Amino acid sequence: AAKDQGRNRFHYFTPSMQRNAKYRMRLIQDLRLAVTNQEFELYYQPIVCLTGDPSVKAEALIRWHHPKRGLVSPIEFIAVAEETGLIVEIGNWVFQQAARQCALWRDRFGIEVQISINKSPVQFRDEGESLDSWVALLKTLNLSRNSICVEITEGLLLDSNQAIYSKLEQYRNAGMQISLDDFGTGYSSLAYLKKFDIDFLKIDQSFTRNLDSNSDDFTLCEAIIVMAHKLGMKVIAEGVETAYQRQVLADAGCDYGQGYLFSRPVTAEEFEASCITAALEHEQNASPQESHS
Ligand code: C2E
Ligand code: MG
Ligand code: MG
Ligand code: MG
Repeated sequence: AAKDQGRNRFHYFTPSMQRNAKYRMRLIQDLRLAVTNQEFELYYQPIVCLTGDPSVKAEALIRWHHPKRGLVSPIEFIAVAEETGLIVEIGNWVFQQAARQCALWRDRFGIEVQISINKSPVQFRDEGESLDSWVALLKTLNLSRNSICVEITEGLLLDSNQAIYSKLEQYRNAGMQISLDDFGTGYSSLAYLKKFDIDFLKIDQSFTRNLDSNSDDFTLCEAIIVMAHKLGMKVIAEGVETAYQRQVLADAGCDYGQGYLFSRPVTAEEFEASCITAALEHEQNASPQESHS
């Protein structure tokens, strides 16, 4: 049962296995151990500016090195982590890891990579939610504003109460930006867009998948981009796999693209070797002292 195995090296399980109660118990047990034994790793996928800004951005995506099963996809364990509450601890680890990586790259290469992390609605609802400790770590690492971006989904804003609103405000005050992930797949109400300060809107890959300049999906993408810009947000298109999609999106005014065309999610080491090296070279070439006349 290894759907997509060649593509992503992940091990998937068949639906019947996933419905199996025993399998689920085992997954929960293993997940608890994974938290204790630190079996997680963050991979990084570049978010590429389509309008020429060379600054480096990346989304951090969690991977689980299961001692017996190998690499397990977040698609398989995030939902269970949410149901059991383990996501709070995992989410705190993700934040700490991303913030430390950001500081490490800054110290080593002089480049500030803006890192986006995914934050589950469950983390916001949990009482022990630890914004204070996050802010303290940002201070300790002396990270500049906008180093960390927090990706949330529409669902969080829909059952929005004042508490969520002020929490997002606290994040922004602490120097973190907010992205709205998977835009267009959740709920039909757009009312929340005027209530919350959101920096980036991420168009879900279901819209970019079949993009060509006279498809309905193109019309939707174009309308989303115009709307987002008028509301003061930048737009990131997810799932950009072809040069053609990239061109169509750039022509429509999309600010950033993310997808296999640019890179799959890769380890921190691979990200250094590709994206950070490229950014350093770009800096050198752009530097005025570098004239060879
Ligand atoms: P997401 O936040 O929407 O992340 C984008 C997903 O699309 C990633 O899947 C990424 O590998 C995949 N992707 C990127 N480019 C392409 C492309 O060109 N084509 C296709 N077909 N797919 C592409 P991944 O890494 O398997 O993560 C799946 C989901 O798991 C994420 O969706 C996010 O909702 C969740 N997730 C991942 N890491 C975390 C985490 O640290 N915390 C939480 N709470 N959720 C996470
Ligand atoms: Mg995301
Ligand atoms: Mg997404
Ligand atoms: Mg998604």
